Amino acid sequence: MRRNRNLFAPERRGGTGRIVRTVAAVVILGTAIGLGVYFLFGKGFFTSNKPVIVDNTQPTVTETVPVVSPEDLVRNGNHIVKADEYAYSTKDVRDWMTGKVPYSGDKLVFLTFDDGPNPESTGKILDVLKDEGVPGTFFVIGTNVEKPGSGEVINRILEEGSSVALHTYSHVYEKLYPKNTGDAQYIQSEMFKLIDAIRTATGKSEFDSRVLRYPGGHMSWKGMDKVDEVIGGMGIEYIDWNAINGDSEPTSRRPKDAQAMADYVMSSLNYTKIKSVVVVLMHDATNKPLTPESLPIIIEKFKEQGYKFGILK
Ligand SMILES: [Zn+2]
Repeated sequence: MRRNRNLFAPERRGGTGRIVRTVAAVVILGTAIGLGVYFLFGKGFFTSNKPVIVDNTQPTVTETVPVVSPEDLVRNGNHIVKADEYAYSTKDVRDWMTGKVPYSGDKLVFLTFDDGPNPESTGKILDVLKDEGVPGTFFVIGTNVEKPGSGEVINRILEEGSSVALHTYSHVYEKLYPKNTGDAQYIQSEMFKLIDAIRTATGKSEFDSRVLRYPGGHMSWKGMDKVDEVIGGMGIEYIDWNAINGDSEPTSRRPKDAQAMADYVMSSLNYTKIKSVVVVLMHDATNKPLTPESLPIIIEKFKEQGYKFGILK
């Protein structure tokens, strides 16, 4: 025991002394180096307030911008983002079609379908448009929008790149045009009611449409300047047509088969001065089966003649 103690005790004492001396040497040396560096290079060496290199190639994001997908509805719009490249301002198209403003671009055709939606007949028209790879504009009536299944079919119109436009809530001439004269305030109230109905049916609260076709056509009624002014205050523009497929003509004049209906459209162009911007009036209803049936022929004829297909916004 003792021997062991003598053997190890001095060594332990000696070891402790060396550690203390080594630590003291390191502290002194370290402090000396530190002071030297401080005086040579200054305080900056320790606080590292070197200039920060800013990468200016990266944009500074100051707010969260929602990511827009091509399938999303255009903000406050009546069509999706990817349909915007062939969506034309209704006022422009009206001015070109009537010759008020000269038009010199590519030949344009707008296929328009009034009086829907209807899950069955709108579905058939959408099938044809999809097969042909062309879009259309659907002028919907509020009382139809509120029927079961209409929300789904309007969403399909939007998803497949066509646009949704306004054709009043009621479509009742006596209410809209008492004594054949447009009632501006009443028509305006139907615009709000129709847009609300579309938002509810589709679940798209951001939906809005600035495109109106007056039931019976703008040209048929009196006092329309006042109505145009009031709905113009809502940003809404109206559009009539310069070609028809005859699906609402009196039975005696109505085309009897699909080929006759397609011929009817092309011959109706003989009555319009402007042929480079064509707006075709057709109807979207279950009692007009020739409309979807003739549609492929009509589309082929316009394609052959070099027309591009647009939608109204
Ligand atoms: Zn109508």
